[in-house]
Amino acid sequence: MLERNNELTAWDRDHFFHPSTHMGMHARGETPTRVIGSGEGVYITDKNGRTSLDAFAGLYCVNVGYGRQKIADAIAEQARNLAYYHAYVGHGTEASITLAKMIVDRAPEGMSRVYFGLSGSDANETNIKLIWYYNNILGRPEKKKIISRWRGYHGSGVMTGSLTGLELFHKAFDLPRVPIVHTEAPYYFRRPDRSMSEEQFSQNCADKLEELILSEGPETIAAFIGEPILGTGGIVPPPKGYWEKIQAVLQKYEILLVADEVVTGFGRLGTMFGSDHYGMKPDLITIAKGLTSAYAPLSGTIVSDRFWQVLVQGSDQLGAIGHGWTYSAHPICAAAGIANLELIDEMGLVRNAAETGGYFRSRLAEAVADHKHVGEVRGDGLMAAVEFVEDKDDRRFFDPSQKIGPQIATALLERGVIGRAMPQGDILGFAPPLCLTRKEADIVVKATAEAIENVFANR
Ligand code: PLP
Repeated sequence: MLERNNELTAWDRDHFFHPSTHMGMHARGETPTRVIGSGEGVYITDKNGRTSLDAFAGLYCVNVGYGRQKIADAIAEQARNLAYYHAYVGHGTEASITLAKMIVDRAPEGMSRVYFGLSGSDANETNIKLIWYYNNILGRPEKKKIISRWRGYHGSGVMTGSLTGLELFHKAFDLPRVPIVHTEAPYYFRRPDRSMSEEQFSQNCADKLEELILSEGPETIAAFIGEPILGTGGIVPPPKGYWEKIQAVLQKYEILLVADEVVTGFGRLGTMFGSDHYGMKPDLITIAKGLTSAYAPLSGTIVSDRFWQVLVQGSDQLGAIGHGWTYSAHPICAAAGIANLELIDEMGLVRNAAETGGYFRSRLAEAVADHKHVGEVRGDGLMAAVEFVEDKDDRRFFDPSQKIGPQIATALLERGVIGRAMPQGDILGFAPPLCLTRKEADIVVKATAEAIENVFANR
């Protein structure tokens, strides 16, 4: 066993090009590798037999938890009956058609069709192409720019990496390259003026958005994309009134709204969709992760009925739409999606996300909010973050070179719990599987408090 692990580690260092990894340090063996072997409920176990409570659900995607037989069986059965057929020129499978119906049944009001992809990135790519197509069909070829937010995360392709508003994803990739402009992040903790109320800060964000639209020219702006709650940018819930004020500006200038619900879709905020949770009325919704709980790669664009009517007009003018992936609506992934959505209902996971999420966040705040280096504990549903500061009173942030966030995530892992050091800022993020129990939440809270104490013990 040990020999096999050593061999895997050597192959890993020599041949595996990992995403989001320091390439040099990994190849030189300066950072740890971890080979994961199995998972059950909220726990994963590595090849050395070490078990960890995964309080980030992989990459906030294993929403039903690990090891669910029902989904494994659905995948196996589909693979045996029909491993693949494409969805071009009107073809479908029982699984893909059924899943489209199940998604629309659960989606916010006014949604009508689902275009399937494989990842959140390709689904956002589809969104932008559809938006451009939409405005061409409506005879407004100049209305093409997309507004996204600093700290937003929408993927890491050329288009979606440009939409993403995090430095790391632009640096040395020559991004953004496409007609994308970024606006203010609704980050109340880092508001420019501390005397602002949440409502005032939301108004400030809406005013800045309007200024940007006017300076670019409203006739050039096609759409605004946003996650209901900022995810990878720091798990930041919108301040009070934010979406209402933003949507008022968008309506004024006929700008479409894309809700990127890759993280929030299918229960994470204690409602089936984040759009329902915050009163968003999107034209397009991006879904991925929680759609299959990552048992198979599947994403989608949910299209509103209003938007769909224009697409239909487009194909009546131009013929079949020139957009498709070989694996769109892959039947094995669709079968996983059906079993996963059924499981979410059977296990009552949306309600659990609200209830256990509320419990978890309040216990976390009780345990760590008073620490002198904890600036804020925030979140919603089963998403939470702890942000660290050097000085609480004047909100002075740590120098990033100190890597406080990663140090705390490492100390947490040593205590058997996985949290995520978010990529920008000293922020420890949590987004556990939606099946988390109160007892498991207590384990995460205790380990977090200990990890924080440990890292700051000698400061
Ligand atoms: N959109 C959001 C909100 C995400 O959080 C992510 C991934 O974390 C993506 C899009 C991109 O999804 P993928 O990594 O599947 O391409």
